Amino acid sequence: MDKNPYRRVLLKLSGESFARAGERGISMEEVVHIARQTVQAAAKGTELAIVIGGGNILRGGSFTAGNTAIQEATAHSMGMLATVINGLALQDALESLGAQTRLMTAIRMDGVAEPYIRRRARRHLEKGRIVILAAGTGSPYVTTDTAAAQRALELGADILMKATRVDGVYSDDPEKNPHAMLYRDLTYQQVREQNLRVMDATAISQCMEHGMPILVFNYRREGNIERAVAGERLGTFVGPRRDGQPAAGPA
Ligand code: UDP
Repeated sequence: MDKNPYRRVLLKLSGESFARAGERGISMEEVVHIARQTVQAAAKGTELAIVIGGGNILRGGSFTAGNTAIQEATAHSMGMLATVINGLALQDALESLGAQTRLMTAIRMDGVAEPYIRRRARRHLEKGRIVILAAGTGSPYVTTDTAAAQRALELGADILMKATRVDGVYSDDPEKNPHAMLYRDLTYQQVREQNLRVMDATAISQCMEHGMPILVFNYRREGNIERAVAGERLGTFVGPRRDGQPAAGPA
């Protein structure tokens, strides 16, 4: 196998990776743990852009559910700001480990972070800085999965890697169904037709339309971010149909 198949990777980290299992908020221990893995992955020379979620703090959709005192668009803005809180924590954690970073936000916040400008982000990546992308797309009603797909495309990433707390994409929720089967390879079509939980539908459609491959893998296994970025075969790979054949089924 090619030694370093990916030149540029878009890594999507959910907010839950910043909290202790089953808890909310931020644990700097968890942040440093994930930052360490990220720094090790970047040390091999792959350019890394990270889209960060905010679900450990607030998700717009669930925050408004059954609550008439807040408008949904407002809650989504709150969710986007939550991702900036996470981004700031990740930036310091990465820098405490010696990495060069830039935090860019899709909502302007002068004095806290740089505004997201595509060309500038690409330049940072070329210079070997880990670029943290916060505030999602800057628009309400979507999630950071969509932001990840969008940024992967516009930054010219070779692959979108989604770090999750399970080993990949399953036929059912593996945390509830012990018989759920892990898929190794899937096509975008299979994900859509079988309604598999990979990323939200908008993100999948965007990746499918532009042929952006997706790898879903477990960040909780030590060294997995480094292995994934190095092109090791782990987790579930989602891509186009190869040679007209659907990719293989469950592992
Ligand atoms: N959000 C948004 N627009 C975006 C990205 C995120 O409005 O482009 C809001 C949305 O309310 C979302 C919240 O920010 O629920 C936090 O992001 P997400 O739920 O994707 O975080 P994750 O699940 O990855 O931790």
